Amino acid sequence: MTTDSKTGFATRAIHHGYDPLDEHGALTPPLHLTSTFAFDTAEQGGRRFAGEEAGHIYTRISNPTTALLEDRMASLEGAEAGVATASGMGAITSVMWTFLKAGDEVITDKTLYGCTFAFMRDGLSRFGVKVTHVDLSDPQALAEAISDKTRMVYFETPANPNMRLVDIAAISAIAKRHNALSVVDNTYATPVITRPIEHGADIVLHSATKYLGGHGDLIAGIVVGSAEHMHEVRMVGVKDMTGAVLAPFNAHLILRGLKTLEMRVERHAASAAVVADFLTTHEQVDVVHYPGLEGFAQRDVAKAQMALGGGMIAFELKGGFQAGINLMNRLNLIRRAVSLGDAETLIQHPASMTHSTYTAEERHAHGISDGLVRLSVGLETPADIIDDLTQALKAPHLQSVA
Ligand SMILES: *Cc1c(COP(=O)(O)O)cnc(C)c1O
Repeated sequence: MTTDSKTGFATRAIHHGYDPLDEHGALTPPLHLTSTFAFDTAEQGGRRFAGEEAGHIYTRISNPTTALLEDRMASLEGAEAGVATASGMGAITSVMWTFLKAGDEVITDKTLYGCTFAFMRDGLSRFGVKVTHVDLSDPQALAEAISDKTRMVYFETPANPNMRLVDIAAISAIAKRHNALSVVDNTYATPVITRPIEHGADIVLHSATKYLGGHGDLIAGIVVGSAEHMHEVRMVGVKDMTGAVLAPFNAHLILRGLKTLEMRVERHAASAAVVADFLTTHEQVDVVHYPGLEGFAQRDVAKAQMALGGGMIAFELKGGFQAGINLMNRLNLIRRAVSLGDAETLIQHPASMTHSTYTAEERHAHGISDGLVRLSVGLETPADIIDDLTQALKAPHLQSVA
């Protein structure tokens, strides 16, 4: 079915780009498990390689199942085109290797997913790309730092793990004035909550491992943006530089996940709002960072660019680091695991887990406190999530830690 931007989000997530009558009436799009594609004639093969004729050549470049996912995600994000990748890190590295060269500068926020931070510090910098961390929650700070060497402004909103928001419209406008690309990691919000391109961003990427797949059974990524940019990401970044192509089987699973994306994210957000309220009133809890709370520090930015508060909460316990560890070890229903956006509620401790790629000094400088605990609120009955937190927070050793 061809849909347009007036067709509802959930309808596009289920139907966009596919008509069963083109495929023997098969309601579910077929899974094309093939590495290569046969040409009718040698001349046809030549025309495909020359880009003179549309059609698939080899699955590292494109595949029909993956192409459907790319079209559908582009539609959901309000972009022209997309490129699926083997992981979120594959999406990030493919974008950077496509658009950056030695001598360029990337300006990025102070808070980043741990492996993105490590790639910039230990990877990009080895190849002569300068990485500058600026507090992008303050657009004035970007206006002062940006120069004609700045090729890209890169950020997450909400940022992993501390939930800081970046004003997409303000930051993208400054980047545009300096001919820099604005690139947004939209993993936390998903296009149900925020569509950065509508706010002026050039490129949006995701770890599709998280909410898009939504069932904790795959690793994947996706990039969307203009047709021209996506052609470059496909033919330079993914085809030649990273080879981080998504397996068609995983594309098929993500297409299945997308069908329920809107209702899942709505439920994640509704439950997270209840859990955040509970945590705010708990005597052991010092601060709760959740964009849906009236008391959230950047509530105005949240209202301007987020349709819902989302499913992620960061909070700090009065007992600090050890209290966080003790809380995690007392939980029964809530799983101690990294990743997020799954049906299961997951808890993790950034300083010792996902953000251990930062040094202690870097974490301190970048606003990731040692006592911060990250909760990905799942789809279980909310009262059961709260019961588990209640019993774990009641444990006597929590009160006794210094
Ligand atoms: C998980 C995550 C990534 C990395 O994605 P993978 O699929 O694990 O490679 C990037 N950014 C954010 C915000 C993430 O949460």
